[in-house]
Amino acid sequence: MSEPSPARPAVAVIGGGYAGISVAKSLDDVATVVLVEPKDAFVHNVAALRALVDPAWLPRIYLPYGGLLSHGRVVQDRAVKVDAGQVVLASGEELPADYIVLATGSSYPFPAKSDVDRTVDAHEKTLGTHEALSAAARVLLVGAGAVGIELAGEIKAVWPSKQVTLVDVADEVLGGPFRADLKAELRRQLAELGVQVLLGSPLRAAPPTEPGELRTFTVTTEAGTEVTADIWFRCYGVIPVSDYLAGGLAGARGADGMIEVTPTLQVAGQDRVFALGDVSTADRKVAGAASRQAAIVAGNIRALIEAGPDAAGGVGAGLGKYEPSPPGIVVPIGPEGGSGQRPDSDDLLPPEVVAQVKGRDMMVARFAEMLGVPAGDAAGPAAGGGTGVVAGPAAAGGTGVADEGAPPEE
Ligand SMILES: Cc1cc2nc3c(=O)[nH]c(=O)nc-3n(C[C@H](O)[C@H](O)[C@H](O)COP(=O)(O)OP(=O)(O)OC[C@H]3O[C@@H](n4cnc5c(N)ncnc54)[C@H](O)[C@@H]3O)c2cc1C
Repeated sequence: MSEPSPARPAVAVIGGGYAGISVAKSLDDVATVVLVEPKDAFVHNVAALRALVDPAWLPRIYLPYGGLLSHGRVVQDRAVKVDAGQVVLASGEELPADYIVLATGSSYPFPAKSDVDRTVDAHEKTLGTHEALSAAARVLLVGAGAVGIELAGEIKAVWPSKQVTLVDVADEVLGGPFRADLKAELRRQLAELGVQVLLGSPLRAAPPTEPGELRTFTVTTEAGTEVTADIWFRCYGVIPVSDYLAGGLAGARGADGMIEVTPTLQVAGQDRVFALGDVSTADRKVAGAASRQAAIVAGNIRALIEAGPDAAGGVGAGLGKYEPSPPGIVVPIGPEGGSGQRPDSDDLLPPEVVAQVKGRDMMVARFAEMLGVPAGDAAGPAAGGGTGVVAGPAAAGGTGVADEGAPPEE
């Protein structure tokens, strides 16, 4: 008679963004994985700005979770209380969890990130904002970081004659630990498109209208420059989402909302609770880093599972350690423009390389493949040329996670 197979440990993954889907998928074969996510689809927000100017992209960036896991399940709900070994959902359901993975990421103002849970509502909201933006002659973007630059480029690519103004309190575009020549190159391309860039001076007061609302207003910078626009968007404000931590885990939440992790990506002081992606202190807030961290988290949980229940006390011993990545970034300016820097090169990425690795495909392919969404369902008109979603350079390797071979980081 054959031995009954031992029960699989339960892994609760909280959050189905870039980090959560990678960990959940990687552990599907060794554990009973439950992925908790309030949205009914994975949102590939890296391409959200493209979908604002060209809503034909919407079906390509809202990818249903149905094909992600073979053994585990995705629960459409929100974690409201998480302590070691205990996950309580908004519905009142309690999940048993031998291991917990905190992957709740961050919020960011719409349209860069979605703030509604149902795909149908998210599409409707983007379509409404697209209509408003289409009718606006003058657009103000507050924040000249990567999101502001990228949105300016997207708008100019579709409506070259719209007046676009970027405002920032900082003295330079992009910010962050990036090269001066990259910032200069991005400014050069923005100027070439006729984007007005006002730096080093905040607005005296925020616009009197809501972001994304079509209504003409005038604002003034501290330096005294007046800007009249018909619509504006907020292009700053990453806020980690960690308000559900309770009991012994509450102490791991820093004043900034981020969750403190060790190099093994375990939550400080915890053997079986991991955190990664935008919500953790592990690295910069980019999907590429989240995917690399997912490989470490999944590998460490697998190692602990294989070592057996008594081994978890040896925290850290033999577990993989995450090393923060050196600065790298790819900033598209429309489908064919932009620039970037890679840690392994002294040269800036030219626009044609940016277009190839990110600007044209916006890396849709790898995530559609990972979610098991057939090419025909996610491709849509924007896929052009019948390439399908799994084709193109971004799909290389087929792991579904960004790696050092693929530079798309922000
Ligand atoms: C416009 C834009 C472009 C970008 N482009 C790039 C790029 O090109 N390359 C790159 O590397 N990075 C890019 N980034 C950054 C990237 O989007 C983030 O780093 C990435 O989203 C982080 O992934 P994550 O899984 O940690 O979190 P998220 O993607 O934020 O996912 C977190 C998930 O958790 C869910 N959640 C939240 N609270 C709960 C709860 N209580 N219970 C259950 N689930 C919950 C959320 O609904 C969400 O689905 C871009 C960001 C923006 C805004």
